[in-house]
Amino acid sequence: MKQSQLFTKTQKDALKDEVSVNAQLLIRAGFVDKEMAGVYTVLPLGLRVMNKIENIIREEINALGGQEIFMPSMQPKENWLKTGRWDSMDDLYKVKDASGREAALGPTHEEIVVPLAQKFINSYKDLPFSVYQFQNKFRMELRAKSGILRGREFIMKDLYSFHLDEADLDAYYEKSKATYFKIFERAGLKEVTHLTFASGGSFSKYSHEFQAITPAGEDIIYVCEKCGLAVNKEIKAEVVECPECKNTQFREEKAIEVGNIFKLMTKYTQPFGLTVKNEKGETKEIVMGCYGIGLGRLMGTVVEVHHDEKGIVWPETVAPFQVHLLSLSQNEKAAEIYETMTAAGIEVLFDDRDANPGVKFADADLIGLPYQLVVSEKNMRDNRVEIKNRKNGTVEYASLDNLEILGYFQNK
Ligand code: ATP
Ligand code: MG
Repeated sequence: MKQSQLFTKTQKDALKDEVSVNAQLLIRAGFVDKEMAGVYTVLPLGLRVMNKIENIIREEINALGGQEIFMPSMQPKENWLKTGRWDSMDDLYKVKDASGREAALGPTHEEIVVPLAQKFINSYKDLPFSVYQFQNKFRMELRAKSGILRGREFIMKDLYSFHLDEADLDAYYEKSKATYFKIFERAGLKEVTHLTFASGGSFSKYSHEFQAITPAGEDIIYVCEKCGLAVNKEIKAEVVECPECKNTQFREEKAIEVGNIFKLMTKYTQPFGLTVKNEKGETKEIVMGCYGIGLGRLMGTVVEVHHDEKGIVWPETVAPFQVHLLSLSQNEKAAEIYETMTAAGIEVLFDDRDANPGVKFADADLIGLPYQLVVSEKNMRDNRVEIKNRKNGTVEYASLDNLEILGYFQNK
């Protein structure tokens, strides 16, 4: 894409009303725009990142057997009355139409997915299965001060699994942990993400959170020094021993909850009377698990973990483009390189703007693409381009002969 065509612009100065690093950088670099506290527009650069995150999640959840669907945001009040959450859930947005009919704007989708499953489960042979979606969630978050980490409207991947018995749920739940680790690894959060014991509410002793360590975190976790498993402070004022390896040495860290998996058991199937006859003809309540990841929160976490004083440092897997092609008064030559690379399938953002080098370098650092390709008069004389690694600042050169430049990126 040519940067001159990008309708968004970068902002040089720090934003006065943003306290979080993720919002500062994402807004200044033109990835998102803030509408009001906790409500954001995703701009072209941001949407490319979100789509990459979504695709990573989709690939991994498909591999786990999830079937993708799309459920409504507007949900019937009756369903919420049935589970008791119409009155008990503080952060539920309620809407009313001109006839006085009320509905909920979904903060989660059990109230839709359980009656949906009921329509298709006729026999124990229909189990197990799991469905998921990428959908907007609405939550009346009162402390929406962490940028895109805490939206009042935000996209979540939510997966729901249905099982005949607890043993089957357990097996799937364990598999989902590995899937989650893979997702966070692919998104560039491997080193900082810890499986964390958290509260599970009334239906199960614990849930498991995936907590990414960063100073921006709103949660406090205790990380086992030996095996890396963590415990959320909310469930234990003082941790005595690691639930996994029994070690007693912990360190306290601030962390962001990037994902959460729960064994719901029969908490939502019971109110809807979702039962099935097992092989012996006995009536059984179906047990469920649910598994969430916030996409905006994941993008914001990546920024919190991967940035420096100049801007964002995107991991290659979720970067909006791989290469930032910076033309320093060499537009014709740079345009040729741009065409060649784009035709070869390399994602290039081409800074073809009529701007001075200082502005181009500063913007490239702020936007944070993994590689900056500098096309300058001097480099052209040597028939080469300069490739700067945004992360570690190292500089390499690739010759323009024999399309060496393509090989450099295609082998990545
Ligand atoms: P928190 O404790 O941070 O408020 P939660 O425990 O209420 O979150 P869950 O219901 O477990 O959130 O939601 C599943 C996932 O959705 C979370 O792990 C997180 O990745 C994401 N998420 C939850 N709330 C928000 C939000 N307000 N904005 C963006 N993402 C969110
Ligand atoms: Mg949670």
